[in-house]
Amino acid sequence: MRILVVEDEVGLADTIRDGLGPAGFTVDVVHDGVNGYWAATETPYGAYDAIVLDIMLPGLSGYEICRRMRAREIWTPVLMLTAKDGEYDQADALDLGADDYLIKPFSFVVLVARLRALVRRGAPQRPSVLTAGDLSLDPAQRRVSRGTTPIAVTPREFALLEFMMRHSGHPVTKTAIVENVWDAHFTGDPNIVEVYIGYLRKKIDHPFGRAAIETVRGAGYRINADGG
Ligand code: CA
Repeated sequence: MRILVVEDEVGLADTIRDGLGPAGFTVDVVHDGVNGYWAATETPYGAYDAIVLDIMLPGLSGYEICRRMRAREIWTPVLMLTAKDGEYDQADALDLGADDYLIKPFSFVVLVARLRALVRRGAPQRPSVLTAGDLSLDPAQRRVSRGTTPIAVTPREFALLEFMMRHSGHPVTKTAIVENVWDAHFTGDPNIVEVYIGYLRKKIDHPFGRAAIETVRGAGYRINADGG
């Protein structure tokens, strides 16, 4: 099993490499984002069974590496290393196309177990494009469009729209949205959902004179299956 480790803390990268060897992994290490992206995308597809990817990297962030890999339909499983006080949280790592994450500092035993599980699971299938009428969302390319008009959305708006479109035609509660789009342990104000629904409406509905997102009194929100 061959693993690519992209980690700029040299000591930590060495520790990971030295520990994974006896566990049966062959490990390549790179210390910056540009070389990490190159190794992840230019090495023949399938050569790496998984990638351990730090988020805060010089050159190119792990966030950007993962997003660009998925946009190019490179589905090598990614385990992201996130710092507790980092710029991105764990939910963001998964939003961005990572398959799993570990918070630093992590236990080596847990790292090996997670990597084995990822390799066993293999590369995920390319997710198919979700549609509601002329509204479409492509999870692989991370693109949203109305007909042929592309719509720019933030990662959180994308995750919210994707969750609703996976339940197209059915109401989803604010609680379900918070748990799936934010975090099961989210302790902030659940009215954040209303705020983000407002953002989405301004992007996918209002400019087109449409109303795909319906408020279902007492139940939550629903994406109209015909796109509104
Ligand atoms: Ca780092």
